[in-house]
Amino acid sequence: MSDLPKRVFSADVPQFKQNGGVLPDTEDTELTAFLDDALQEIYSKSEVPPPCPFCKSTNTGLASRPHARLPLPSFLCRTCRLRQFNRVTGTPLMRLRAAKLPAFIHLLSQQMSYAEAMRRLGVDYTAVENWTKKFRTWLLQLDPSGKWEARVRLGIKVRPHIQCPYCGLEGEKHFSAFLVGQRAIRCPDCNRRFGLKNAETMIQKPAELKIFYEPSSDSKIVPPCGRRPRS
Ligand SMILES: [Zn+2]
Ligand SMILES: [Zn+2]
Repeated sequence: MSDLPKRVFSADVPQFKQNGGVLPDTEDTELTAFLDDALQEIYSKSEVPPPCPFCKSTNTGLASRPHARLPLPSFLCRTCRLRQFNRVTGTPLMRLRAAKLPAFIHLLSQQMSYAEAMRRLGVDYTAVENWTKKFRTWLLQLDPSGKWEARVRLGIKVRPHIQCPYCGLEGEKHFSAFLVGQRAIRCPDCNRRFGLKNAETMIQKPAELKIFYEPSSDSKIVPPCGRRPRS
């Protein structure tokens, strides 16, 4: 798994807005365009039957045209005859609120907290968390190389790894508030606060940003009572 594409973060993006400022736009428009195409395909009103999501047979036909109550066409499979399906059936996006997803995909690649995404979309934490998780799973299904999934940054938090220019401590440092024109970091050992760019100049080595918090990785999520809320 070590040859999976690397997630890239910028040290210049603050985790939160400071003093009423605005967060820089860090949208990866290529990922948005890729997801936009994929969404249009599964929410298409085309009545041309797709393969069966259960048995993969192409011996399928139209079961019902789109109508007011069911806005997507449904299909049936003449091979397994399991049950009617549409193009969303069998994808991780099943049962998600389709109306908010086109706005959500603009945020998925951004170096942004869940709190900011909640505010912009007017939804709760569970929804942002659930959608992020579902889209990351879907991206890996659409492209198992992981190239697109590695462009997701929403909710993921990073910390700089750089030697402290004062006490020499190696490894993880904490981000602190912005200094003029650069992010400030704090050394957990000597407790000094300094600019990231200044530190890079002093020790003549770039800092490495490493993930320290991944809210959507399965290991961190404990669903309440095992229930899967509709979101
Ligand atoms: Zn089938
Ligand atoms: Zn130090």
